[in-house]
Amino acid sequence: MKNTLPVLLLKTLILLPNQEVKLELSNDLSCDIISLASSSFHNELIVLSLKDQMEEKPEISDLPNVAIVAKIKNNLLLPNGKLRVTLRGLYRAEVKGLLNYQEQEDILECQYEKMIVPKYEEIEALAVSRKIEEMIRDYVKCDGVPNSILNVIKNVIDLGKLTDLVAAFLPLSFARKLEYIEEVNPIVRGNFLIDDLHLELEVNRLEKKLEEKFQSGLEESQKEFILKEKLKEIEEELGDVHSKYEEINSYTEKLNSLGIENPRINQKIKNEIHKLKLMSEVSPELSSIRNYLDWILNLPWNHFSKDETDLVLIKKRLDKSHFGLDRVKDKILEYIAAKNRCQNVESPILCLVGPSGVGKTTLAKSIADSLHKEFYKISVGGLNDSAILNGHRRTYLGSSPGKVIEGLKKCGTKNPVILIDEVDKMVHDYKGDPASTLLDILDKSQNKFFVDHYIEEEFDLSNILFILTANYKEEIPYELYDRLEVVELSSYTLEEKMKISKKYLLPSLYLEHGLSTKQMKFLDASLKDIILHYTNEAGVRDLERTLRSVMRKLIVLEDFEDVKVTPEVVLSLLGAPKYEQKIMIKESVPGLVNSLAVSGLGGRVLPIETCFYDGNGNVKVTGLVEKALDESIEVAFSYILRNQNKFKLETCDFKTKDLHIHLLEAGVKKDGTSAGVAITTSILSLIKNTCIPKNVAMTGEITLNGFVRKIGGLKDKIIGAYNEGMKKVFIPNENHNDLLDVPREILEKLEIIEIDDYEEIFKSLFM
Ligand code: ADP
Repeated sequence: MKNTLPVLLLKTLILLPNQEVKLELSNDLSCDIISLASSSFHNELIVLSLKDQMEEKPEISDLPNVAIVAKIKNNLLLPNGKLRVTLRGLYRAEVKGLLNYQEQEDILECQYEKMIVPKYEEIEALAVSRKIEEMIRDYVKCDGVPNSILNVIKNVIDLGKLTDLVAAFLPLSFARKLEYIEEVNPIVRGNFLIDDLHLELEVNRLEKKLEEKFQSGLEESQKEFILKEKLKEIEEELGDVHSKYEEINSYTEKLNSLGIENPRINQKIKNEIHKLKLMSEVSPELSSIRNYLDWILNLPWNHFSKDETDLVLIKKRLDKSHFGLDRVKDKILEYIAAKNRCQNVESPILCLVGPSGVGKTTLAKSIADSLHKEFYKISVGGLNDSAILNGHRRTYLGSSPGKVIEGLKKCGTKNPVILIDEVDKMVHDYKGDPASTLLDILDKSQNKFFVDHYIEEEFDLSNILFILTANYKEEIPYELYDRLEVVELSSYTLEEKMKISKKYLLPSLYLEHGLSTKQMKFLDASLKDIILHYTNEAGVRDLERTLRSVMRKLIVLEDFEDVKVTPEVVLSLLGAPKYEQKIMIKESVPGLVNSLAVSGLGGRVLPIETCFYDGNGNVKVTGLVEKALDESIEVAFSYILRNQNKFKLETCDFKTKDLHIHLLEAGVKKDGTSAGVAITTSILSLIKNTCIPKNVAMTGEITLNGFVRKIGGLKDKIIGAYNEGMKKVFIPNENHNDLLDVPREILEKLEIIEIDDYEEIFKSLFM
């Protein structure tokens, strides 16, 4: 018998018999259908599920043939205007026809017939049911479906009902659920279900496995991470304790190995180590204690290098590194000879004074090498802060010991050679007086107990061989000068420079450039040219540089077999000569006289010229003159006035004339009194209208009585006079002993006249 019921189309939902679904309907048509079903069809309606969920307006032909007759269990209008409806599936029905419902055209009316369940074997149904139940239990166990399903199916005997109930619970696809709707045979549906449950169980099992794998992987890695972190922490803690323990051990071992005799110093270091032990790793003081311990424990408290004692060997080594400089070499040999006899002999504090480039620094290094001592250089030129020498107190931020302690640590021995360079250029100002600190360091009576501000404890410096250098003897601080053994190194003569070039500079330059004398040979004439025309110095530093430059230029140009460096080659490589040999006075005129002076470049000839003009008896002096020289001009003038008769100057009226004295060589400061005799001669030469030969030079201080007094730098002055072409030189008799230092070949070529009284010059030049 055909029945009719209004149709409710469901798009995404499936309703199976025995299943209940709750719907919230907002569209008017659906609500009308519900109300129609309620009002005219005893709350019953036909539910059709659309096969194609995407279809907006399905054709009637697209609708399924099997529908579910459902009962509206309740409906409720919600405050939001929606209609909540609970439907319960009753049975499957075959769709026989679909029509528009009377006047309400958009409502479909379905003609249907209840589907008859075909006959089936009870046993088979039982077996299928049991299998399904068993599988459901398994499925519940593995959390595939909620436990509540067991209650739902508990007393269900009918296989058809069972399959519908279970299928509703399973997460089946829409299409599969449609198949469940369309299949009326419970056995077939039961088998559907077994297949689906099987699949679901398998999927579930695989999911579980994957999840476990993922979980265990995650846990493993998390566990590993946590363990690793913990291990790191433990290791760090253990490491800290361990490394601190090791550090303290090594400090203590080091202290024991040093054998510091002074118990107070020993105790102090122990206290510092103890402080370190108690201190936390984050304490800011920690690094300062470590720093201090690193300094104090690395000082050579008891470590001496073994000095060379073989005098012949030492002499040989010194001669090999430096030409001449015999007085310094002798001093060293004397000291070692004395030390060989008595270990406690005091070392000299040598101070090498001389112009730059004469070998002061390199000789000091060579002394250290010859004696097998360590070497350290401290430059004090421009130094005004004594803390550089004796350290900053530990309370200062970033404090450290002074240079002497630093040098000892670097050398690692208690008896090195320490070179203190340019002691004449220290500065005494508000920051301190480095000279008096240097005295503490050098003075034998004090330096046994030298205390560096940072180290805070006495350290014996008396085993150090100090060598000082200075350019000007006069500028060495007086309190220091007193304690020094000053050895003056003077300018080298042309001949000495030639020898140094050939024996010392060139061999080491050949070595430096991987050349042999066969490959490149400097002719004497070229060396002479380079010395006279391309360098202008007392020492040989510039000479060495120029030789190196010639060598490199040739290396670029030539292939090396028998290259001869001739004067022509020098000219082509170095260009026009930079310095011509100077004879400053081109032509002798009255009032023009050569004096001698010493500058940073060594000894040189400084011409003095004087002229007279009408005036009132004034004297004017020009040419970078310092006060001492001003005074010696006054002395010379007074001496001349006083001896007018003796010098036969009666005709000259000094009161109506102004005198202008000019010292040539701009740029050279003239500060000594040694120009006294030259000034006197210049004035006399002018008044007496007598020319002084241009190859005559003189040096000496003059007194009001005409006595000629000793001057400094005689060797340099004589060498300067010789280098600049002088033939006759007047010097004070008091400087006689200094002539011993002047190379013999120069003494042979110069006429040197030693005088005590100015009259001797007068007689020689004016009579
Ligand atoms: P200073 O310290 O007096 O300014 P250096 O010791 O620096 O001079 O010497 C400059 C260069 O001259 C060095 O290469 C040095 O070897 C060389 N020299 C100086 N005097 C001599 C010498 N008497 N014998 C050999 N080489 C010398």
